[in-house]
Amino acid sequence: MPQTYTLLDFMRDYPDDETCLDKILELRYGTDPVCESCERETTYHRIKKRRGYACQWCGSHVFPCAGTPFAKSRTPLTKWFYAMYLFTTTRHGVPAKELERQLGVTYKTAWRMGHIIRDLMSNIDIGMLVGEVEVDESYVGGHRPGTTGRGAQGKTIVLGMKQRGGNMRAMVIPDVKGATIEPLIQQHVARGTTVHTDEWWAYRYLHWLGYDHRTVRHGRGQYVKDGSHTNSIENFWARLKLSIRGTHIHVSRQYLPKYLTEFSFRYNYRNMPDRMFAVLMATLAQPV
Ligand SMILES: [Zn+2]
Repeated sequence: MPQTYTLLDFMRDYPDDETCLDKILELRYGTDPVCESCERETTYHRIKKRRGYACQWCGSHVFPCAGTPFAKSRTPLTKWFYAMYLFTTTRHGVPAKELERQLGVTYKTAWRMGHIIRDLMSNIDIGMLVGEVEVDESYVGGHRPGTTGRGAQGKTIVLGMKQRGGNMRAMVIPDVKGATIEPLIQQHVARGTTVHTDEWWAYRYLHWLGYDHRTVRHGRGQYVKDGSHTNSIENFWARLKLSIRGTHIHVSRQYLPKYLTEFSFRYNYRNMPDRMFAVLMATLAQPV
């Protein structure tokens, strides 16, 4: 049973806005901060009325929220932190309506907070996929027209890359051409990796790009051929579609990229639920 970062842990760690601000200061400047003005190792003292601190030696001010989504927000930090906590502990994500109810903010604020948290998730660097990676496309939304091949009218095409026993990446793509898919694979999958795909045309040059390319023939019921299969990514698609149907009812084309980010984040940390909140918080260390 994996450890969980419980609500009680969270409440103990972040009881008020002061503690939240201290945490952001620590994330931005480290546990042994060096003042940018006098360049001495310093202790920052809280200044009154603003979300800021002063250097113990030269008195120069730092504002740790600058460059974070909190800078322009009048929503208390505790509510932001709790919203982030909810996003890391709720199995299928947090609808804006639920945030509105739990935080006591307006629907508009809740909706905006949700999208900002998804943006933070998109800053989490999981590194390159290695080892054995399955690559596949899928079609999300609407009904698949009765076309042969990869017809996708009215649907959004999603490209997925799944490292067996490891991380997942998924992104919306405009079409399924090699010129679209190849650069994305190069961006996210390390050269030399064994890449499993079906026999779609767009994958035919992968071996020229430095990958050990294996194909599986879907059309002929030959799902496992010499150890080559794409079961792992198909499992991901099934979960994704269930989740979209189950909670979000309809994810518009416009917001699908954000939803994919959120879903992949939750999926990638599914066996480390105690780390999810810390990983999300760590994105605050790099201002946007
Ligand atoms: Zn100083």
